[in-house]
Amino acid sequence: MPLTGIEIFKLLPKTNCGECGVPTCLAFAMNLAAGKVELSACPYVSEEAQAQLQEAAAPPIRPVTIGVGDRALKVGGETVMFRHEKRFENPPGLAILIKDTMEDSEVDARLERFKQLEYERVGLILRPELVAVKEESGDASKFEALASKVKQSSDGSIILMSDSPDILAAGVRACADRKPLIYAATKDNLDSIANLARENSCPVAARASGLQELADLTTKLNEAGINDIVIDSGSRTIRQAFEDQVIIRSAALAKKFKPLGFPTIVFPSEMTDDPMKEAVIASMFVAKYGGIIVLSDFQGESLFPLLVERLNIYTDPQRPLATTEGIYEIGNPDENSPVLITSNFSLTYFIVSGEIETSKVPSYLLVMDTEGLSVMTAWAAGKFVADLIGPFVRKSGIEDKVKHRKLIIPGHAAAESGGLEEELPGWEIMVGPREGAHIPAYLKEWKL
Ligand code: SF4
Repeated sequence: MPLTGIEIFKLLPKTNCGECGVPTCLAFAMNLAAGKVELSACPYVSEEAQAQLQEAAAPPIRPVTIGVGDRALKVGGETVMFRHEKRFENPPGLAILIKDTMEDSEVDARLERFKQLEYERVGLILRPELVAVKEESGDASKFEALASKVKQSSDGSIILMSDSPDILAAGVRACADRKPLIYAATKDNLDSIANLARENSCPVAARASGLQELADLTTKLNEAGINDIVIDSGSRTIRQAFEDQVIIRSAALAKKFKPLGFPTIVFPSEMTDDPMKEAVIASMFVAKYGGIIVLSDFQGESLFPLLVERLNIYTDPQRPLATTEGIYEIGNPDENSPVLITSNFSLTYFIVSGEIETSKVPSYLLVMDTEGLSVMTAWAAGKFVADLIGPFVRKSGIEDKVKHRKLIIPGHAAAESGGLEEELPGWEIMVGPREGAHIPAYLKEWKL
């Protein structure tokens, strides 16, 4: 049984030093019991107490890593039902399905799509993470060859799918060094799959028919020394699979029911033959609470919205995405180019820089640190005001890059123009558009 807040409190130093981010050890103990903080946030816990607190400190849903290196996927580790309570931790992995009965040309085309379909958005690269290699041929050597080909042609993490332990062993032989997810341990093959996973230090997916059987399977895998587990409730109807996701998350978090405290794997690919419907089902699991989502194929029109949805849902709602403060040169500006300034809220930066690019007028864009707030919010909060903008402009180095002294401020910060003329003697303050969409027309008219 996990420890209660009071039991944890008894093991803490009780100095109330506040270094963990809350003022008292009791508050820290309560947060730890609720899974809202990590034990490592307190630097003063004794080794003896640490050992006792391990269980309480572990996230209720175990984090599991699939693959190795930069493209390794970490799933699980979640501590809340709803992102507004804290945040969701590890975005679900998206997998493309490749079967050993497919023609070589189809396999090659899927591997190529896996490689090519990536997108840049708000400074981040969005892309899928996994290739699911599925056995349908009954031929171990064919499956091994396909696993080997996927390993050679892609740096994504790998899922090996078969019901046969011997065929899975052949697949693991081909890519054991990539630590693939072995799918699946069932009540019929549990011992063999547990041995395979233990010998190769690979994570395992457990598949059952229903949640009780699933809990029995994970308990047996734990007893066999396997802890890195991903769970599949076996449901292949939309409604039942959705219900299972919610029950699993809530059993692990609210009831602290350890046998279901693992990330899940779901298969929209087995719930419909309609690609668009499949994308809609996948979008449901991005929000509620898929750990790995296996799709029958990737196409840009369905993958991109899923990647953006995932980015939005797994962004910390308490911390706006921010761009680094500095001077951004857009379109090779020179000493006569316009100078604009904006806040460092990422969305603002990408809208403004995009509109400057559209204008085809080479420009300097000064991005000021406003703690990730948009222009209007930062202005209202006193973080984008004349007595902060002035020193920033002077220190930015822009005066060495242009020979004119004209600064275009956002229309939403027009009230700062008078104060800025005092803060920046010699500069002419020009009030730009309120909306990003009007920047191209404004810049085309801009003259020294
Ligand atoms: Fe207590 Fe440790 Fe937090 Fe200090 S850092 S208040 S000792 S829990």
